[in-house]
Amino acid sequence: MIVCPGFVDTHSHSDTYLLIEPSAPSKIFQGITTEVVGNCGASAAPLIGGYQMPSDWADKTYPGAWRSVAEYRALLDRVRPAPNVVLLVGHNNLRAGVVGYDATPPSPAQIREMMRILEECLEQGARGLSTGLVYPPGVFAHPEELSELASVAGRHGGIYTSHMRSEGRDLIESIEETICIGRDSGCRVQVSHLKTAGRTNWRLVETALATIQRARASGIDVAADRYPYISGCTEVDVLFPAWAEEGGRARTLERLRTSGDRARLREDLLRARSSEEDWAGITIGSTSHPDNLAYRGTPLLEVAENMGVDPVDAVLRLVELDELKTSAFFFGMSEENMWRILAEPFVMLCTDASLRSPDGPLSHDYPHPRDYGSFPRFLRASIDGNTVGLPEAVRKMTSLPADHFNLTDRGVLKKGAMADITVFDPSRLRDISDYGSPHRLAEGVEHLIVNGVLTITDGRLTGDRAGRFL
Ligand SMILES: [Zn+2]
Repeated sequence: MIVCPGFVDTHSHSDTYLLIEPSAPSKIFQGITTEVVGNCGASAAPLIGGYQMPSDWADKTYPGAWRSVAEYRALLDRVRPAPNVVLLVGHNNLRAGVVGYDATPPSPAQIREMMRILEECLEQGARGLSTGLVYPPGVFAHPEELSELASVAGRHGGIYTSHMRSEGRDLIESIEETICIGRDSGCRVQVSHLKTAGRTNWRLVETALATIQRARASGIDVAADRYPYISGCTEVDVLFPAWAEEGGRARTLERLRTSGDRARLREDLLRARSSEEDWAGITIGSTSHPDNLAYRGTPLLEVAENMGVDPVDAVLRLVELDELKTSAFFFGMSEENMWRILAEPFVMLCTDASLRSPDGPLSHDYPHPRDYGSFPRFLRASIDGNTVGLPEAVRKMTSLPADHFNLTDRGVLKKGAMADITVFDPSRLRDISDYGSPHRLAEGVEHLIVNGVLTITDGRLTGDRAGRFL
């Protein structure tokens, strides 16, 4: 057995799911003892003004209501999650709550109001600010707005994490923007799920890493995280141009049902993805309408063929019927670049996923295999000699993230530190979840201790949960 510190998932979206399935099986069977939630600009709290939670959170039933960080935290304490939880405040919560979903820039008074609310959240225990600059309304935000907000997090010793404006063509400019925000605000910085998306951008990998290295050498505390898969996963409407998402979900749906807007949207989508190869990299994940269930796990080109329409029309049909609740796996990353990025000393591991469970309320959708497999998959590669050695692989999951996210006395095994401990069998450790059958727990984590309490023993849940809001 290998005995090591419990793993820190630096980029999780489990926020509200922890309230539904506090035992967090997909995560803890990977050896994860701490989840950093509230990433990509969307957090469980605060819920203010007209902010709409992501659709997969909004349609669930919860054991209680909350609006503020303090209320979310109290509810979380009540359900006692298995892993520890670190919360970041989503920029979209603030901007949608104070300004709305329009492209209009916030007035100075609105900026002050967002800063005031962020401050309150940090005082209630949040640990930083996250942005999702491809999602509405974050997509409309200028760097100055982000710097002002991040400076509030910086004053509290917080971190700024960013799903950047571009992970493809404008990757380098986006990394530079992120670093600038770190420099202006004094925040520690995390580039979320670092990748070079799209074949024509694969050549950017060394420049991307060098840009971060230079910033680090100049004293900016910037790092990155990554999951060990070459496809990402998000809602299909991320493909939509910003104008189509202005005003919120109901407005987007209305546009889909208005022939003029739909035609314009169709044209914009075709302009952005003109070749068959562009569409070939998309596989449908979760759907919500019964008529779309059969398409889960199916490549978009097959869906289109089955419907007898072009891929672009298949997308519009799926999304309209599912009321924007269609997710997809987006291939188009380079395997070589993935291993290159993961081997870089400042890059830590993440799942970029919310927790799931093979049974119960969180077993009904069609998630990306990274939900269940990221950490064992990377360790397996390490044990088999296909990436960095085991001590370095473990460091990327433990002390590196604990230091960067300022988690005192975690991520290490030493006398007096918190007892978050993962024990795994290196001969058995493996991920089983795949694109054809995602809801499958990883194997090989034999024992898991969170805050000194046995959570898994002999490969089975003990029923005890001792995670804390950190
Ligand atoms: Zn993201």
